[in-house]
Amino acid sequence: MTTHFDIVVVGAGVVGSAIARDLSRYELKVALLEADADFGNESSKGNSALMTEGHDTPAGTLERQLVVRGYQRYMAEAPALGLPIRKTGAIMLAWTPGQRETVSRLVHEANKEGFENVYLMEGREVLDQWPQFRPGVLCAQWMPDEAIADPFSTPYAYVLDAVTNGVEYLRPWRVVCVERTGYGWTLDNDRGDSIAASLVINAGGLRADQVDELAGFSDFWMKPRRGQYMVLDKQARAVHDVIAYPTPTPTSRGILIAPTIFGNVLVGPTAEEVEDRDDRAVTEEGLAALRAAMDAMVPSLRYMPVNTIYAGMRPATNHSDYQIIPRFNEKWLTVAGIRSTGFSSALGIAEYVESLIFPTVFDRLPVKVVRGVKVPDLAETSVRPWASPELIAADPAYAEIICHCERISVGEVRDALASTIPPASIKALKRRTRAMFGRCQGFYCGARIQAMFDQARNGDDA
Ligand SMILES: Cc1cc2nc3c(=O)[nH]c(=O)nc-3n(C[C@H](O)[C@H](O)[C@H](O)COP(=O)(O)OP(=O)(O)OC[C@H]3O[C@@H](n4cnc5c(N)ncnc54)[C@H](O)[C@@H]3O)c2cc1C
Repeated sequence: MTTHFDIVVVGAGVVGSAIARDLSRYELKVALLEADADFGNESSKGNSALMTEGHDTPAGTLERQLVVRGYQRYMAEAPALGLPIRKTGAIMLAWTPGQRETVSRLVHEANKEGFENVYLMEGREVLDQWPQFRPGVLCAQWMPDEAIADPFSTPYAYVLDAVTNGVEYLRPWRVVCVERTGYGWTLDNDRGDSIAASLVINAGGLRADQVDELAGFSDFWMKPRRGQYMVLDKQARAVHDVIAYPTPTPTSRGILIAPTIFGNVLVGPTAEEVEDRDDRAVTEEGLAALRAAMDAMVPSLRYMPVNTIYAGMRPATNHSDYQIIPRFNEKWLTVAGIRSTGFSSALGIAEYVESLIFPTVFDRLPVKVVRGVKVPDLAETSVRPWASPELIAADPAYAEIICHCERISVGEVRDALASTIPPASIKALKRRTRAMFGRCQGFYCGARIQAMFDQARNGDDA
């Protein structure tokens, strides 16, 4: 028999997960479908993880509105979920008179638009505080409330919260066919399973156009934009610990150099339109652009060891703003084109989705009693289990280090494997624990961690 849900959310990226979490607060039968075996394995896994206030998004757009709200909600709600936030601040630098003019204008505009905590700094002040920048800085825009956060634990926290509060999370469940019915839609996956929904919310990210097309809608098309990155080893943090941008040009926001919540320094992303949405190649040209950005902004980073290189893919469309398209006569809501800011805006988007569907599609129902969840805090600056005498006294597995680069214990890997939503792949386990994220990239600990993973999946016979 086909199971019927009030709402089916397609896609467990950071956006779909945040929507499912918000919907779990109501007496509704909700399913979250994910094509992949793990959540957050597409656009949401390869971003800069900046939690941004929104002043660098175009004024008057839906994107600006939802980033501003998403930032506010994240700051208020993330700590209770165990998610770390570091307000490192962000600085946009000018070295030429033309850039100085642009930066001064951007500060003025941000202040006029209500962002009072955006300041103009003179070059001398900048170099006194951050001597790592290339000499000759004329001025800068200083944004003290810009923050870094954990890009992997965030969708995890949203999915875990949603599931704990009643959402059915189905994975891998790739929607390959949909059919309009009297009450809404039936959705089929590639194994021949079907479910029914009174309302479908398409949060398919990089593939949202394909999901819309299944239902006969074609309001936008994807223009995937690749972003290549370099992750510098932790010693780079002693040199550089602030989010730094060049002055943007009319065509590019430029490559940033920023600390990560895990204690590294990230250089990137490039911005390249590519034909193939799965083309996450790292190229010679991309790496050269990243090196040039280091030389131009923080030359002393040039010879820091590189831990890894990778590329993410922005789910951009042929429109510049978000594509949140209600078609309630058709029982379908598209939430797409969340290109460069979805990590920050996800909770703003989720609240906006609620405002669209209540009471238009469903009566606004009373909020249920919410069961709280907490995910492990993986920040470098937090007290890690190996440094907690209480945790170790209660369970010595937290003192048995398995990943020496990141100082991750057997206890943490074991806990992740035994969690309500266990990682379905070794890469997901990496994102859930930070194990194998360090300088050796799993060279020394990989085999032992793989054995723990295999044993957890297959039992003692593995
Ligand atoms: C290089 C780069 C840098 C960025 N930097 C930042 C930043 O610093 N700060 C910030 O706020 N944002 C940033 N972003 C943006 C942010 O990462 C994205 O906006 C966000 O991840 C989009 O999430 P999503 O859930 O819409 O899409 P996705 O993460 O792509 O999720 C969509 C999900 O839908 C699933 N799906 C697709 N088709 C189907 C189907 N048929 N059936 C079932 N499931 C399906 C996919 O498997 C996927 O898991 C950056 C993005 C990139 C790429």
